[in-house]
Amino acid sequence: MIKITGKTHLSFGILVGTAVVIYTPLGLTSIIGVALGSLLPDIDSEKSIINLKGYNIAGRIWCLINKWTKKIEPIHNIFKHRGITHSFVPLGVCIILFLLYGYQIFLSIAIGMLSHHILDLFSPVKLRYFYPLEYKIGFFKFNSIFEKIFQILFYILTIVIFIKRFV
Ligand SMILES: [Zn+2]
Repeated sequence: MIKITGKTHLSFGILVGTAVVIYTPLGLTSIIGVALGSLLPDIDSEKSIINLKGYNIAGRIWCLINKWTKKIEPIHNIFKHRGITHSFVPLGVCIILFLLYGYQIFLSIAIGMLSHHILDLFSPVKLRYFYPLEYKIGFFKFNSIFEKIFQILFYILTIVIFIKRFV
């Protein structure tokens, strides 16, 4: 097992998003924000779901922002994998945007990103969470069967809390 897959991040994001909708005042659309946030940090990886498996969303956005860049940048030129997108920095930015403008979407994306970071603590590569500090954090490693079990467990839990609330 090299890394936690996007499928697992999404299954956990859907679980967390469902819990957020049920147990907090945040509206139903926050589930979309949380699910999006749960995939966003892997925008630093070329083959991630959020990059549409190689479409290079990050590189294309960078090309739009940076007018001097005539060509679409490869992702590794913009983000080092497991760098700034896997730290508290984007999370903090979303929370600040939420506090400034009050849009729930920023808060739900922040929650989703936090869910991604928590899961990635169980992958072999430790996170440089307090970017730009060099200090890294991480726990033990998932293996692929263990990860599959968690994926299924996350979906079962989603259904359980949904049923508990609405049935
Ligand atoms: Zn990740």
